[in-house]
Amino acid sequence: MGNNSSALSRRRLLTATGALSATALAGCLGSDGGGGHGDEQLADTRERPLPEGAENCVSTMGIERDPDGLTAKENVDYQYHPNYTGDSGFIELCANCQFFCPGNQFDSGIGACAAVEGGIYSQDWCALWQPVEGLEQQERSRARGSQTDT
Ligand code: SF4
Repeated sequence: MGNNSSALSRRRLLTATGALSATALAGCLGSDGGGGHGDEQLADTRERPLPEGAENCVSTMGIERDPDGLTAKENVDYQYHPNYTGDSGFIELCANCQFFCPGNQFDSGIGACAAVEGGIYSQDWCALWQPVEGLEQQERSRARGSQTDT
């Protein structure tokens, strides 16, 4: 009897856990159950049209964008988030790359790049990343600032 009741309890627990997991999974996938809603939102935020006026923009390091000499995003491992594990030891992202034309130059707020096609968001990254001049110094003073803040 004791064994039967503990087997029953275990079965109930497993059933309950299974139901919870299914609920959690459904929550992650969204109300349509196929992840469509979440994916649509991501797709929207990843839409990066070249901002108006950016065709010949000049990057933070003075590099001029040549529309005929750009590389496609798919050829440079373009990703929609920074690179936290780059060889530089910095958090590598478009905002601290020498090819970046910052989005605050354009109405849409999306930037551009002197090396890569299309609109570029400051928090993205690609394999052509090169640090802006003085990045090391900037990072050092930022670290000093955060130490004195505490
Ligand atoms: S990381 Fe790549 S896409 Fe971003 S600004 Fe630099 S070269 Fe352009």
